[in-house]
Amino acid sequence: MQKIVNYINGKLIEPLSGQFLENINPAEGKVYSLVPDSTADDVQLAVEAAQKAFPAWSKTAAEERTKILWKIADLIERDLDQLALAESIDNGKTISLAKSLDIPRAASNIRFYATAAQHFASEAHVNEEDSVNYTTRFPIGVVGCISPWNLPLYLFTWKIAPALAAGCTVVGKPSELTPMTAYLFSKLCMEAGLPAGVLNIVHGLGGKAGQAIIEHPAVTAISFTGGTVTGKKIAATAAPMFKKLSLELGGKNPNLVFADCDFDQAVKNSIRSSFTNQGEICLCGSRIFVEHSIYDRFTEAFVKQTKALVVGDPLQEATNLGALVSEMHMKKVMGYLTLAQQEGGKILTGGHALKLEGHCAQGYFMEPTVIVGLDEKCRTNQEEIFGPVVTIMPFDTEEQAIAYANSTPYGLSATLWTENLKRAHRVAHQVKSGIIWINCWLHRDLRTPFGGMKQSGVGREGGWEALRFFTELKNVCVKL
Ligand code: NAD
Repeated sequence: MQKIVNYINGKLIEPLSGQFLENINPAEGKVYSLVPDSTADDVQLAVEAAQKAFPAWSKTAAEERTKILWKIADLIERDLDQLALAESIDNGKTISLAKSLDIPRAASNIRFYATAAQHFASEAHVNEEDSVNYTTRFPIGVVGCISPWNLPLYLFTWKIAPALAAGCTVVGKPSELTPMTAYLFSKLCMEAGLPAGVLNIVHGLGGKAGQAIIEHPAVTAISFTGGTVTGKKIAATAAPMFKKLSLELGGKNPNLVFADCDFDQAVKNSIRSSFTNQGEICLCGSRIFVEHSIYDRFTEAFVKQTKALVVGDPLQEATNLGALVSEMHMKKVMGYLTLAQQEGGKILTGGHALKLEGHCAQGYFMEPTVIVGLDEKCRTNQEEIFGPVVTIMPFDTEEQAIAYANSTPYGLSATLWTENLKRAHRVAHQVKSGIIWINCWLHRDLRTPFGGMKQSGVGREGGWEALRFFTELKNVCVKL
């Protein structure tokens, strides 16, 4: 059985305790590899390595950091097929999505920040009368980067790349449910010549290895992506230690479809924003609000296209939805289907777990599910389900659509479908979400700020925001 190991001080090493956890292939429901059950002792080793590497890495010329990061991106692209296969097996996502989205984006994340390192500049404020202020930024130190299971290498690199580009050294922890590509990535970092200790990857449980990273006094900033409940716990630990925090948390995103939309585009892309990656993307639009006059037509077309989606072996190119990440997660998602019906919801399509044939017979598969007949306040429409489940509800006026959109404690993203330019801007300004997509979904420009409002998080990733996060400011005032 393949053993994943930690990457500490430039070496691949087993956890000090010698203990491992079972890593399951969700499409087969079977253990297929072992992942370190790291403890605070492993984190201590990783932090010491990162502390030792910090002085040299933080002073390495940006051009040199760029070269190494660029090489890592090249190696990700060289190994795209192998990494995509590993991601699909580890997470249950389709191989086609891993090949077209996850792994190419991991390479882009690294390349984007490889070059950004050289373009990050200081500010100056000149007072004509008597002084010049200049504001410099220094790499903040050893940082912790903790990522979830839904887009494993994509989100892990989204944090690590700006941290390394800024000159920080990193202790990273991928999700214990999907550790494989981070492990393969550590080998690529070694091959690319990343100096020892600059990046350390400690595998293991959130409450053990993750918590030890958060609690460690030498870790000065934490970049975390995951659930809102975990985010609260992390904030409670880190805030009294005055650590800098970036929290990218859950979502319950609205998808507003106005009668004046391009109907075919709205339906087609709503299918994408509902069911891509089995609905396990924080940006998926799980609450679809449709203007009354096109509600029946939209719902009919949406259900028809949902029924045409193929749930199956993630390794087959024709599959649209693969397996959910774990048995526990699937039970949680299925539990919401029971709740939705108790709340008066009607399932128009889906609603069942699926038993596949052959090697996927024990996997965690379910039908994409469409529910109608619920109001915006019920738990099904307030809580993050994070699976292939959407609700469709009608609205009458623009004001009502905005009120429905803003009716949850979350505020990550929102999608609007309308051909009316004025309306698009008007609504975009009133919806309380960090990211608004008008007539598109998951259309990403890495320069833009990424993150949520309300319980969807604190701070923003992306573009300069991430480099600002991983640096500390100092203003120098010179009297002329
Ligand atoms: P999770 O919060 O359970 O775990 C995320 C990571 O945190 C994992 O690596 C886990 O091991 C670690 N962790 C857990 N407890 C910890 C602790 N006490 N201290 C330190 N680390 C700890 O989330 P998940 O189930 O892996 O991911 C799904 C969630 O992530 C969903 O809520 C989804 O919306 C959210 N998400 C948000 C974004 C975003 O950009 N806003 C992106 C992807 C996923």
